[in-house]
Formats: sequence, C-alpha cells, structure tokens
Amino acid sequence: MENIVKVKCVDFTFDGQGLAKDAKGRTYFVPSLLIGEEAEVKVLYRKKDFDVAKISKILKFSEFRINPKCPCATSCGGCCFQNLDYKKELEYKKKVAINTIKSIAKYEIKGANIYGMEEPYYYRNKIQIPFGYDKQNRLVYGFYKFKSHEIVPIKECVIEDEVHVDILKSIKDLMLSFKINAYNEDTQKGLIRHVLIRVGKVSKEVMVVFIVTSLRFPSKRNFVKEFIKQNPSVSTVVFNENPRKTNVILGNKEEVAYGKGYIYDELLGVKFKISSKSFYQVNHDQCEVLYSLAIKKANLSKDDVVLDAYCGIGTIGLIASKEVKEVHGVEIVKEAIIDAKENAKINNIKNAEFLCKDASEYIIDKKLDCVFVDPPRKGLDQKFIDSLIKSKVKKVVYISCDVGTFSRDIKILSDYYQVKSVDFVDMFPRTFHVETVALLERR
Ligand code: SAH
Repeated sequence: MENIVKVKCVDFTFDGQGLAKDAKGRTYFVPSLLIGEEAEVKVLYRKKDFDVAKISKILKFSEFRINPKCPCATSCGGCCFQNLDYKKELEYKKKVAINTIKSIAKYEIKGANIYGMEEPYYYRNKIQIPFGYDKQNRLVYGFYKFKSHEIVPIKECVIEDEVHVDILKSIKDLMLSFKINAYNEDTQKGLIRHVLIRVGKVSKEVMVVFIVTSLRFPSKRNFVKEFIKQNPSVSTVVFNENPRKTNVILGNKEEVAYGKGYIYDELLGVKFKISSKSFYQVNHDQCEVLYSLAIKKANLSKDDVVLDAYCGIGTIGLIASKEVKEVHGVEIVKEAIIDAKENAKINNIKNAEFLCKDASEYIIDKKLDCVFVDPPRKGLDQKFIDSLIKSKVKKVVYISCDVGTFSRDIKILSDYYQVKSVDFVDMFPRTFHVETVALLERR
C-alpha cells in the first residue's frame, strides 16, 4: 500500500489533468480527478517536483462530476473532460486561457466570452485513426493511450461524427478477410498505418483516406470494390503512401482509387472543396461561430484590402470577400492553395487571390486594412511578425489554437499593437483545447 496516497484536487493542469496535493503539499497529476475531489491515488511514477498517479478510490465527489457518455473515457487519451459538467468545462477553459495570457503577455483580459456548443458531442467531422495490434496480436484500431503509442480500441467515440463507426468496423473486417496487415511500428512491417475519414456536414459527402506503407499491394482493386459495396455512403477513396518511420501521418504520394479524390462542404453559405492534405476545421458549427466572430471583430468595409494569412483552403478570406474590395491569401500547403483557388471559382468570387508560400517569406507589399492570421500551434513566425509591424496595417484579427503561443506573439507585438478584445470559441468540447480570437489594433 506504500504507493497509495490520499490527495485533494485543487486545480487542473493546462492539459486537463487533475492537479492534486497530499497532506505535505506535494503535487500529483491525476487524470480524471476533478477540482474539489478527494481521492486515494496510486503513484505510477515520481519526478523531482511531482508524482504522476491514477485514481484508486474517490473519497469525496465533486458536485460537477457526471457519468461519461463515452465507455473509453478513462482509458483513451483523447478527451479529459468527459466526466465534468459542460458548463464547468467552459468556465475552466476560459479561466485557464485568461491566466495564460496574463502570465505570458501581461495583459489583463476583461469581458471575454466563451462560446460553447448546445450539444457538445458528435461534432468532429474528421477522424484520423491508427490501425495496429494489441498485446495478443489481434488487429485493432483506436486512439493512443494518454502519452503513449498503445492503441486503445474503440467501438464508438462520442465526439466523432457517427458515420465513422460503421466505416471503421467494415475496414477492420475487410482487412481480416483480405489478409491485409496493419503497420507495426516496431518491426516496420505491414500495410495500413492510419485511416482518415472526413465528412462534409452540409454536403454529407464522405472521404476515406488509407495511409499505407506502399501504394502497391495485392487485391487492392477488389478490396476497394468490396469496401464501397459495404459502405455506399463513401463518396471517394484515396490511398496515401507513407513508407517512413515517422510520427507524421500523411506521406506525399497519393492515388485516387474511387470518386473525385476530394469532397465539398459549406460554411456560412460558401462552398468549399477539401482534399485529403488540406486543413479544414473539424467542428463545422463552431467554425461558423468562430469565423463570424472573427469577421465581426474586423469591422470590414467595402474599400478594404484584406490578407488571410495561413489561409488553408481560403475559408476565412472567401467568406469575408463579399464585404471587402480585395482578399489575398497565403498558405504553405500546395494542395490547399489549389483548393482555395478553385473555391473562389466555384463560388464565383472574383476579388480573391491565393499564393502558395511560407508566411514568413511573404512580403506585405500592398496597403492592407486588415490581416487575419490563423497559424498552427507554433504561432506566428518572427519574420512574419516583422513584416506585419513594417506594414503598419491597422487591424489584425488573430485566431489561435494555442493560447500559449498566442500570448507570446501578442507580447512581441505589444509595442505596436494593442489588444482590443479577446474571446474564446470551444471548437473541441470535452478536450482541453480551446480557440482564441482577438482583435489587435495599431497603436
Ligand atoms: N484559416 C484556415 C487554416 C488554419 S490552420 C482555416 O481556418 O481553415 C493553419 C494553416 O496554416 C494550415 O492550413 C497550414 O497548412 C498553414 N501553415 C502552416 N505553416 C505555415 C507557414 N509557415 N506559412 C503559411 N502557412 C502555413
């Protein structure tokens, strides 16, 4: 019983684990333990300043604890708030984000809103799931266990679109009957590494991408034929080749095995073509909330020239295009820019131009009225920040999926840009992630 300790949970860590203390004040990170709860925990391993532990027995329950909707809530590393009342989750996410901005950027954020979902389940339009083997060498698919590469098999996932469940099950059955192996990370043998499924919430089109170690394998045509027969809802099938030993999921080479090789969807009345390598927000309804808020903050007018930096398939710029004179978009992924250009065409938008370039190499050489930035987690590049400062653009609307790098960037910009307003959109309910959207104005 030596490694069983009595603790009280006093806070959450930034990634949604319970932060608990024992009687001596030592710190424990305990997944699924909620603020205010007391528990006996089993220490899994010790570090200098804290222990990592798991719940053995809860002695005092939080009044905000709920029964998780998901059967794998405690084993899978995907969600950390399945057992917490959703209103409390929103409150907590907002508090953490505001505290992060305060501690890194020294800004006091007042009057921020967090926009949550009415029904915070089944919202993800994209699943990216590894296939592999369990300890008994049985074929499994699922999510990685928290901070590991062990696959926790899933039957259903309550944050994914329900369409995904049947497709995944049929893939597994077909792999067994066609004797197709999953990739084994240790031996580097086997064919199927991941399966990516994307659903257009409005169009209902479904794209399935098999990420494989080789595009050539026996009975491929029959496998696809049988797969389509069993899954008539699938509109297109793509094979993506990734033979490397890497954590990066998608490889470079692709082959369309069925259908167009891409799907369409719609956001705020604008139609978008989405291919397998292009970024597309995973929560359709909250994405509409986010973009509406970003465009509202920009307070655009008919003569404005706007830059959509890190534009993906051109979503924000194309939606904003009706309100302005010109839109320019820049994005590093070639396929996304091809989609963006076509998206302008299919929506008959004539005032938008897109360029495939690293944002840090993009020279702002025109007079801009507003810049939307929506970078990946690592935030803005220093060269892009320098270019932004030099451009003297009046308004910057910063959309961020990582409040830490957002805070770092607004601090760097703070001599030139003042933060006018910050709000949060819960794009990823039940997980610790939250999206920040802020208006910065030139001083
Ligand atoms: N605004 C889009 C995409 C946001 S995700 C949307 O909401 O859908 C961030 C995008 O930045 C991705 O499309 C990614 O490919 C792109 N990106 C990442 N690093 C980049 C860089 N250095 N320069 C330009 N674009 C980059």
